[in-house]
Amino acid sequence: MKTILLFLGFGFILLLSIIVIRTLTISSESIDIVPVDISLDNNKISKHLSQAIQFKTISGEFIEFRNYLEKTFPQIHKNLDREIINEYSLIYKWKGKDEKLKPIVLMAHMDVVPIEGGTESKWTYPPFSGQISDGYIWGRGALDDKCSLIGILEAVETLIEQGFQPKQSFYLCFGHDEETGGKKGASKIAELFKSRGITFEYVIDEGNSIIDGVISFVSKPIALIGVTEKGYLTVELKVEGEGGGHSSMPPNQSSIGILSTAIHKLENNQMKPKLIEPVRNMLYSFINESPFLMRILFANQWLFSKIIAKEFIKSKTSAATVRTTTAVTMFNAGIKENVLPTSAKAFVNFRILPGDTINSVIKHVTQVINDSRVKIKALDGAFEPTSVCDTNSPNFLNIKKTVKQIFPDVIAAPALVVVATDSGYFMDLSKDVYEFLPIWLKKEDFPRLHGTNERISIDNYEKIVRFYIQLIKNSNV
Ligand SMILES: [Zn+2]
Repeated sequence: MKTILLFLGFGFILLLSIIVIRTLTISSESIDIVPVDISLDNNKISKHLSQAIQFKTISGEFIEFRNYLEKTFPQIHKNLDREIINEYSLIYKWKGKDEKLKPIVLMAHMDVVPIEGGTESKWTYPPFSGQISDGYIWGRGALDDKCSLIGILEAVETLIEQGFQPKQSFYLCFGHDEETGGKKGASKIAELFKSRGITFEYVIDEGNSIIDGVISFVSKPIALIGVTEKGYLTVELKVEGEGGGHSSMPPNQSSIGILSTAIHKLENNQMKPKLIEPVRNMLYSFINESPFLMRILFANQWLFSKIIAKEFIKSKTSAATVRTTTAVTMFNAGIKENVLPTSAKAFVNFRILPGDTINSVIKHVTQVINDSRVKIKALDGAFEPTSVCDTNSPNFLNIKKTVKQIFPDVIAAPALVVVATDSGYFMDLSKDVYEFLPIWLKKEDFPRLHGTNERISIDNYEKIVRFYIQLIKNSNV
């Protein structure tokens, strides 16, 4: 007995020492880089973005917009080859000195989401005015995604003016229907590259951003560099020919009751949370800037990953990063207040965590509902999560370095992207596909995305242009 106790005691001390040692010795790596200085004319670049916002590129005005780009960026249109894809999408090729090197893709999209009916009057300045006031450029597309599109063009135009030619070629790819799925734009662009047998060193598109004060336990702003995107699946649940008839003599369970029970089960038995590799790496990046208790957890994920994952599912924002989410989005049944409907239908949308698959989600749904009266069907348009980029690859380190050069006070961390972007179509074309645009978002800015009073600060926009200039330069070594 004594030996067992002694042994257990020794084991406990050993475990404790490992935890303490890891907590004290592991720290997020830090890169010390002197910020670079590139001179830019803020008035000029802000005006360009403001003018670009004035084109209502919701589902039209793409030709006018294209003419505007020709006029505004003469060097690009003189020096780069441009192709028009499916009438409106654009590919520019900036030829590098060494055609043997794999080219790089900078992506953005031209289209913007419409203004929700009845909200126009809530805007401080009209949504397509491109008003420059109070240190901001205002309007639909200021954040998503014209700051990226015009920012890329501004960066390339500036570099050409300076006589710069990249070592490897750059492709600038601008789709025109990202907000409605990218099937006509980015998807066709990717198909074209595939047919030509072109693959890329890396691809960078919008997706994640710099968040400031959003994660409460991290003291600094964080640049979340997207290295993988969640998948997407909508499942239709249907109960038919069950529980119908006159409401004066109802059966014990109506079609609505059967379907509600199924949904209730799904919400209460969600897919298991887990810390996938990019999320683990992200947490490592937070170690230096987190309170001591968090440090213990993050430095010892080998032991505490289950606890962390459980903690994360308590808030909907962090839950999305640790599990496949279940969102019941539609429920239809019944036509009259005194008639029992014979059918009921609901839709549940899943955002699939890398590691899970469309099939594993369907299997989960079938097992959890476990009721043959509920017919389960996957809708078209589902896609798998993307593969995870290597966070030790030189391309990732290059983006990280660029972030630190332009935004010296932020933490740069790999991260999961919980939405889908156009870059999803490029997965077969490069092993390194990143989703990151350095728009600076505080908590109160999130509703501006696709919402009212979308705007970007002039300072942030200038830094976006600098980011692209520096990224192109850094990619050149
Ligand atoms: Zn977008």
